[in-house]
Amino acid sequence: MPRPEDCPLVTAHGMSIPAVGIGTFMSLGQQCVDSVAHALKVGYRHIDTARFYGNEVECGEGLRASGVARDHVFVTTKALHGAEWSNPAVNRMLPATEESLKRLKLDYVDLLVIHWPNPATPIKDTIADLCEAKRRGLTRNIGISNFTLAMVDEAQRHATEPLAYMQNEYHPYLDQTKLRAKAAQYDMAWASYCPIGKGAAFEEPVIVKIAKAHGKTSAQIVLRWQIQQPKTIAVPKSVTPSRIEENFNIFDFVLSAAEMAEISALKRPNARIVSPPFAPKWDD
Ligand code: NDP
Repeated sequence: MPRPEDCPLVTAHGMSIPAVGIGTFMSLGQQCVDSVAHALKVGYRHIDTARFYGNEVECGEGLRASGVARDHVFVTTKALHGAEWSNPAVNRMLPATEESLKRLKLDYVDLLVIHWPNPATPIKDTIADLCEAKRRGLTRNIGISNFTLAMVDEAQRHATEPLAYMQNEYHPYLDQTKLRAKAAQYDMAWASYCPIGKGAAFEEPVIVKIAKAHGKTSAQIVLRWQIQQPKTIAVPKSVTPSRIEENFNIFDFVLSAAEMAEISALKRPNARIVSPPFAPKWDD
């Protein structure tokens, strides 16, 4: 297995974040505790959770069960701003973040992300609270998720602390050229969610061919394609110990420029996996 230091770090605005993290959406209960602990034991140093996932308690438990020191692990959580869909009583980001810290049993997170834009709350207010969370020391870094191009510009305009990170759906079928250029414009780190597209492209002949050539699995090829792109982080989710290991074992080979291009060429229309009713109007 790779060592933790084999995983590249993505840096942006003073933030330094391991390029592969363990995703935890739909990872619940003891399975979440065990998969987070296993990931950290085999070398991951980055956990991706959210208030919305209902597993912050378990992510914190997994971190402690792993035996890895807290300050060696990059912990991201996400908050919703404005009226919470799940709990209308909690309508501000700062108390919601304090609750997240209590559930995680941590004094701070490394990264706090606005999970989804909320049409009921002006972006200016969302960003003001996010920046305040950083100033109060609840989080070391701040970021956004599921923002459109115009929303990113607006968020950057109002940010009084470096807005260093954006997390969006990205996999070989989904073209994100415009939003990735927007991230580059502001020197933001890019994190891909659904980074293996839940396995959708694993049987693509191009991916199977490249996997054979490198003696790797399709998942490893797709994840390598992710992290070989500029400032790109991937947070694959798995609760299966062998897959957790497989998804981290991608630092001992390199895809050629031609292989990278072949995988990128798989992009096609209507490839989004995640588009809930409250999603913004996507630029594509
Ligand atoms: P992924 O693309 O990470 O796919 C996860 C699925 O693929 C699971 O069913 C998992 O199964 C399976 N899998 C994992 N590894 C392998 C492998 N090596 N071979 C075959 N199958 C595999 O999708 P997610 O939606 O989970 O996205 C990843 C993470 O991104 C989330 O967990 C979450 O942390 C974040 N996210 C953020 C969003 C946002 O709005 N900001 C939205 C969606 C996700 P199993 O677990 O059974 O092994």
